[in-house]
Amino acid sequence: MKNDNNKLRVHSIESLGTYDGPGIRMVVFLQGCNFACAYCANADTIPTKGGKETDIEELLQLSRSQRPFFGTIGGVTVSGGEPLLQAKSLIELFKKLKAEKFNTCIDTNGSVFTDDVKELMEYTDLVLLDIKHIDEEQHIKLTEKRNEKSLQFADYLKEIDKPIWLRYVLVPGWTDNPDHLHQLGERLKEHTNIEKLEIQPYHSLGVHKYEHLDKEYRLKDVTENTPEQLEKAKEIFSQYFKQVIIN
Ligand code: SF4
Repeated sequence: MKNDNNKLRVHSIESLGTYDGPGIRMVVFLQGCNFACAYCANADTIPTKGGKETDIEELLQLSRSQRPFFGTIGGVTVSGGEPLLQAKSLIELFKKLKAEKFNTCIDTNGSVFTDDVKELMEYTDLVLLDIKHIDEEQHIKLTEKRNEKSLQFADYLKEIDKPIWLRYVLVPGWTDNPDHLHQLGERLKEHTNIEKLEIQPYHSLGVHKYEHLDKEYRLKDVTENTPEQLEKAKEIFSQYFKQVIIN
């Protein structure tokens, strides 16, 4: 996007979302991601080109029109793609949303850790932080990027005491090794700003998008989690985090 901080490149908008943050929410999915997760269910949001350049004013108006559904805890979540790639424009949006007392939430892989992102945090109520893998090598295999920045971002959020809901996709054979779950717990257990950890079961719902994008789906042979696998991960994470749920 060409230095226009009053616009965001939007992939799609969901009304009445109940999955991405507290209460009922408007969820804005931004276009473009710097990761290429093997399980990405929204692979069409990955290319930075595409989407629709949308005025922040339009998003504000939409938020106002949906306000009656938000109740006391709902609000606006920005997801993606990777929303922090457009942090500069998000500062403008969130500043205005906070001026009107909307609850604001960011769903991020945490890997874009810049001064703009730090400023954006001043206007963000909650961060849904997706940690993909604690092991660097496995993280690269899974996402094609390192996990260093995401962990640094988690540390920064601890420093400023910003509430986090940690999210972890449990992919059989890829991200469910008990040793790695313990390592993640050990690495983040002192982060008392983590209000809960959401285990996200693996599913292959977005796989048809790969054919459309002419991309290979690398998890073709992976099956969905068994209830036992999910419970095992929950049991391990519960040793480190105050609330653990299976989404
Ligand atoms: S970070 Fe999210 S949007 Fe980006 S590739 Fe991974 S799952 Fe997809």
